[in-house]
Amino acid sequence: MATMKALVKSEQARGLSLRRVEIPTITEDHEVLVKVKYASICGTDLHIYQWNEWAKNRINTPQISGHEFSGEVIGVGKAVKGVQIGDFVSAETHIPCGYCRLCRTGNMHICRNMKILGVDTDGVFAEYAKVPEVVLWKNSPALSQHFASVQEPLGNAVFTVTTGGVAGRSVLITGAGPIGLMAIQVAKALGAGPIIVSEVKDYRLDMAAKNGADYVFNPTKEDVFRKVKDITNEEGVEVALEMSGNEKALALCIDALLPSGHISALGVFDKPFPIDINKVIFKNITLYGITGRKMFETWYIASSLLLNKRVDLNKIVTHLLPLEEWEKGFLLMEQGNCGKVVLKIGE
Ligand SMILES: [Zn+2]
Ligand SMILES: [Zn+2]
Repeated sequence: MATMKALVKSEQARGLSLRRVEIPTITEDHEVLVKVKYASICGTDLHIYQWNEWAKNRINTPQISGHEFSGEVIGVGKAVKGVQIGDFVSAETHIPCGYCRLCRTGNMHICRNMKILGVDTDGVFAEYAKVPEVVLWKNSPALSQHFASVQEPLGNAVFTVTTGGVAGRSVLITGAGPIGLMAIQVAKALGAGPIIVSEVKDYRLDMAAKNGADYVFNPTKEDVFRKVKDITNEEGVEVALEMSGNEKALALCIDALLPSGHISALGVFDKPFPIDINKVIFKNITLYGITGRKMFETWYIASSLLLNKRVDLNKIVTHLLPLEEWEKGFLLMEQGNCGKVVLKIGE
């Protein structure tokens, strides 16, 4: 039996384990086998590592974690047409069925039968990964391999920013984790301004400034609502991007928004909570939920922003670690003293 190194969720408890497992083989006509080169750690992977309530209810063990990657195609099923052996690829992580009403109406990213790579199937924190052809994205050889894995979360930022229509508009971003930081760059590239960021961790506030935010505030130390009003001549921002999953941040977005404004909400909240819905109604606000990426419109935009150097991932990726040092990466993410953490998996 040929084996490979893989980071496996083996116990129903905090942690992951690096072990040797069998290399996957192609069994279906539309499957593709990829030799993984780089994989980045996502908030979702951290939740699986921490074994939070969501993970307990969703993850079957044992399972290989990870979903953001770049690598080389080394095997293709009989019916595969879109990629060939040797192609440099990444992948969309929402695996659609292709047949349901949502898939058939341009909404594959919220397919009724959707599976998520590394959540519902074995993932990519491994030397080899098997994925269905439908999710593969062929990368330009000009794109750096360790940045290619980060296109998936960059896609979240692109979807969140583009939905609001930010050109020439003031934008409030609540939460400057890796996707919030990418949203700053994307909003700026698309002509937004001023860009105001609210974030509780000083390390990330500092990164927000370095990524091009015009104003950065810590809501535990400053009255961000007041600051937004001051900056916008008492009018409020035209667009708010909620990237934190914090109840107070969503309330701030609703309060700090100009009537008729747009909120894109990407952050996931721990539990249901009340919001002042009459403010949404009487301010004529659009509150737009964001999940995943539009397939594949978002990928074209994200890839264009990278290839035309409108977005610089050097300012986002703070750590590049060998797979063996995976736990250091997870702990950095847990503490929030990092931007994006990328693991080097293979040559
Ligand atoms: Zn992700
Ligand atoms: Zn479907």
